Amino acid sequence: MVLFGPPGAGKGTQAQLLKQRLSVCHISSGDLFRHHVRHRTPLGLQASEYMNKGELVPDDVTIDIVLNAVMAVPDDDGFILDGFPRNSNQARQLEQALVGRSRNLDKVVHIDVSEPELLRRLGGRFVCRDCQAPNAVSEDEDFASKKCGQCGGELYQRDDDNPEAVKRRIEVYYEETAAVLGFYRKRGVLVDVPGDCGVDEVNKQVLAALGPGLCITAG
Ligand code: ADP
Repeated sequence: MVLFGPPGAGKGTQAQLLKQRLSVCHISSGDLFRHHVRHRTPLGLQASEYMNKGELVPDDVTIDIVLNAVMAVPDDDGFILDGFPRNSNQARQLEQALVGRSRNLDKVVHIDVSEPELLRRLGGRFVCRDCQAPNAVSEDEDFASKKCGQCGGELYQRDDDNPEAVKRRIEVYYEETAAVLGFYRKRGVLVDVPGDCGVDEVNKQVLAALGPGLCITAG
């Protein structure tokens, strides 16, 4: 499945919950890039120039790294893709790669969140250095003394969660990424989930959208 939505929609948060519940792997294009940035690989240096400005990393870099990760998933295992595809070309290339393995996407879950809510969330978002889980920190809390709610790890604010990059990421979403919704709507796999509410409520709606067939291990 693909978790789809604008920056700050809660794709990463929902992916963390779903991967435990459904025993599937989580492939986040942003996490793949941040891994390269942390290890200062040539790809990481190239990607960070785009990421810090809130722009998409070019397709010739992005598609290979994400599709390699998807193709490494054993055929009998499920996966959650988060952050990919982000434009129509990526969606077409993913489809071709999956067809080549006789696989397909069961669902594309679009978490729909209003712009004011996205801005509010991204301003208070801190990420765990260990497990990459996003954590919300309110204005009256000190992030340095707060630990990750999932694993107790140290929290930090992403370089691209500064106000200018956030503004650009949201623009890029509406300019380039939102078009992918039409691609999946035509294929009959898209489900829209309202995402302005709390994490647990969104999770309930995402599980309901996946349907009983995909939630066999849920209990
Ligand atoms: P968010 O969904 O919060 O914007 P991500 O962690 O998914 O954050 O992505 C962070 C950045 O990584 C993006 O702003 C972009 O620069 C780059 N990136 C991630 N996925 C893609 C992609 N599929 N295509 C191009 N760039 C990407």
